[in-house]
Amino acid sequence: MADYDPDNIFAKILRGEIPNKTVYENEHVLAFEDINPQAPVHILVIPRGPYTDMGDFSKRASEEEQIAFSRSIGDIVKILELEKMGFRAIANTGINGLQEVPHYHLHLLGGQPLGRMINVL
Ligand code: AMP
Repeated sequence: MADYDPDNIFAKILRGEIPNKTVYENEHVLAFEDINPQAPVHILVIPRGPYTDMGDFSKRASEEEQIAFSRSIGDIVKILELEKMGFRAIANTGINGLQEVPHYHLHLLGGQPLGRMINVL
């Protein structure tokens, strides 16, 4: 993955230049509704720091940021009442993963049975 692009759409959301439907936030994390939901619940969880993808985040983010991100998942799952019926978390990465927005984000999908994990093309 190339260097972090500060003009990517999630960086603009973090700077308040583009609106979002926030469901959760703290010092290190923002979670908001996906603009093109693929399930009744489709949330994007992003770190506030400039990380391109999951690998970059896991290498460069501080322990505090990584713990905050991980803990936020538990908080969001509780807020959205996904605990009982479950959910799916996806981090698309790079070319094979078809990542479109080059700021690390975790998709949280739920609210219905989600089918098999991979639908190839
Ligand atoms: P990915 O393909 O994993 O990079 O996913 C990018 C996701 O960002 C897609 O599911 C888009 O629908 C979503 N998305 C793009 N722009 C926005 C936006 N302005 N607000 C919320 N979600 C967005």
